[in-house]
Amino acid sequence: MSQLENQQNTLARRPTWAEIDLNNLASNFNQIKQRVSPAARVMAVIKANAYGHGAVECARRLVNEGADWFGVALPEEGIELRASRISQPVLCLGGFWHGQAGLCIQHRLTPVVYRLDMMESLNQAASDAGIVADVHVKVDTGMGRLGIRFDQLSEFVAALQQFRHLRIDGLMSHLAAADDATCQPLTQDQIRRFEDSVATFRDHGYRPTYLHLANSAGIFGHREAWGNMVRPGGVLYGLWRDVLPSSTRNAELRPVMSLHSRISLLKWVPPGETIGYGCTFEASRRSLIATLPIGYHDGYMRGLSNRAHVIVRGTYAPVVGRISMDLTLIDVTNVSGVELNEQVTLLGWDRQNSGLKIPAEDLARISGTLSYEVTCGVGERVPRVYV
Ligand SMILES: *Cc1c(COP(=O)(O)O)cnc(C)c1O
Repeated sequence: MSQLENQQNTLARRPTWAEIDLNNLASNFNQIKQRVSPAARVMAVIKANAYGHGAVECARRLVNEGADWFGVALPEEGIELRASRISQPVLCLGGFWHGQAGLCIQHRLTPVVYRLDMMESLNQAASDAGIVADVHVKVDTGMGRLGIRFDQLSEFVAALQQFRHLRIDGLMSHLAAADDATCQPLTQDQIRRFEDSVATFRDHGYRPTYLHLANSAGIFGHREAWGNMVRPGGVLYGLWRDVLPSSTRNAELRPVMSLHSRISLLKWVPPGETIGYGCTFEASRRSLIATLPIGYHDGYMRGLSNRAHVIVRGTYAPVVGRISMDLTLIDVTNVSGVELNEQVTLLGWDRQNSGLKIPAEDLARISGTLSYEVTCGVGERVPRVYV
């Protein structure tokens, strides 16, 4: 019995799980590290529970691989890392919310700042703690989202000197469309505006340690956007086919998550009968239908109904009928020797058999979204099993 089966059995739970391959995560990280080294440090972006892969376990492995920084969205996510004794610097990419300045100081989290009132409350909290706290200032160079607009930076910088308990440790921006060749002019504008912003800070006597604006697409498509730190997210998890510029689609990145379940019921259905909610599938022949204990609450999206395939015994089997909240039906008429309890792969690769694969990018395309939403969407009730 494999170690994995052992873990499954001893916990006696529904046989639906996401397998997280930490070696593949490490391999992806090292590829990125080698690509940008020695010009740039690597901030591993592990927000949103590491895009659904499990923030703490991923962070632990990435610490071993030499991650310089971690990026999270919320201070809450940073506190979770601190509670698990991750001591690397952590950047809160979304800043912090009213009342959280003290928490950032207490847990040594570095917030991104983009409003003076944020800086004021953090300055006060740092002063109360008797320290000088680091911040990274975010400039909006064309994303139109978080950040001080590049053309309004001068007034902002002029106001900074009042904050005696803050140090500008980093200056950053975010690329809006670095994967898209048709948006190349915007990307170039963003890079130029960022360089101008750095100059503005220097003119005012600031020397931020870190200058960073490259996400996955920036790292692979725009060397001139690396600055001295890069912020990979998706590529760490082997998500790239719908993320990187088409010119760089030779990346040797490996998927990290796979999603599995087991057949919990097998039955024959005569031709002419429909199955599932809404009668969306009618058996055209005598069909062997298998039930899987996984549904859209687990992140197996309803939009995949009658469109996706799964892997059973080294064969692709189609999803039939509507995916429901907790259950999914597949047609296994053509899968020879299929049995109750058979392992099924819904996402990722089938280690045991064939080498067949179902990339997250494929499920994303079928359901009209991005691969990130597929892995982020794998529900909390699906246990992550680390291998
Ligand atoms: C999520 C995020 C990233 C990582 O983006 P990917 O496309 O996943 O590489 C980088 N920077 C910021 C500010 C982010 O919010």
